[in-house]
Amino acid sequence: MRAMVLDEPGKPLREAELPVPEPRAGEVLLKVEACGVCRTDLHLLDGEVDVPHPPRVLGHQIVGEVVAGEPPEGAAAGGLVGVPWLGWTDGSCEYCRSGRENLCPQARFTGRDIDGGYAEYALADTRYCFPLPPGFAALDAAPLLCAGLIGYRALRMTRDAPRLGLYGFGSAAHILTQLAVWQGRRVFAFTRAGDERTQAFARELGATWAGASEERPPEPLDAAIVFAPVGALVPLALQALAPGGIVVCGGIHMSDIPSFPYELLWMERTITSVANLTREDARELLELAPRVPVRTSVTRYRLADANRALEDLRAGAFTGSAVIVP
Ligand SMILES: [Zn+2]
Ligand SMILES: [Zn+2]
Repeated sequence: MRAMVLDEPGKPLREAELPVPEPRAGEVLLKVEACGVCRTDLHLLDGEVDVPHPPRVLGHQIVGEVVAGEPPEGAAAGGLVGVPWLGWTDGSCEYCRSGRENLCPQARFTGRDIDGGYAEYALADTRYCFPLPPGFAALDAAPLLCAGLIGYRALRMTRDAPRLGLYGFGSAAHILTQLAVWQGRRVFAFTRAGDERTQAFARELGATWAGASEERPPEPLDAAIVFAPVGALVPLALQALAPGGIVVCGGIHMSDIPSFPYELLWMERTITSVANLTREDARELLELAPRVPVRTSVTRYRLADANRALEDLRAGAFTGSAVIVP
């Protein structure tokens, strides 16, 4: 099978011919129909997040057809399933036993510890595969599996905040805006200064307001989610919060957060991060997505163009999500 492989950080992915892997007990073999491109893949490529045992096939928003192995509950044989970033947990540590498998210290991640979906075939642990929601084509569903899931987990941390700021309006924010507006919240979208195309895109999706990250929103926010990996946005987001508000950092990596006056945190404002996902998050989001219904905006790339997809993501060359179709 053809695959795009990370040999070492700092080098482009290499196009390789690998044997089709064979599923062991408890695994399925998927014929990859689509695989979303995530900012985490850029962090892996750049060495900002470690890949412990290269060479590794990246890609952790996999939609595939089950071609061998027992399909997960709720999926028909030959049906499409989705595979997220969280690929395996031990099930026995204090985090796993308390509904917080996203924090499992033994967790293995798809496209980092386990070969991912930048390939024609991929293996997955059956327990971490999910039947796709009805009405979603493979291409459109792929961005739900990380951008959607991390966004959803971050959104839950904002509880019922009615005025929600989103800093960095990429794949996650474009899904989350639709969900939040459907829930009756108002969304304030923050982009790079001068990025009028993305600001217009945010308004089209239902955002009440869109502007530059350095701007103050027209009214204080009850919560802000920072998706851009830029630490300097954290004090800016705090500054935009009403008393009691929360800033949720939604990325796996972020540049250093500059120091800021205590006054910005005072009045019970909170800063937190969101790490990974749980299978419960996945079940909830995949149940909600068709009810909204979430419509992903997708730019499609061939497998051999994975490096170009990653560089386009870095450059902000598209709105919405990039998806590789082998
Ligand atoms: Zn565990
Ligand atoms: Zn991701």
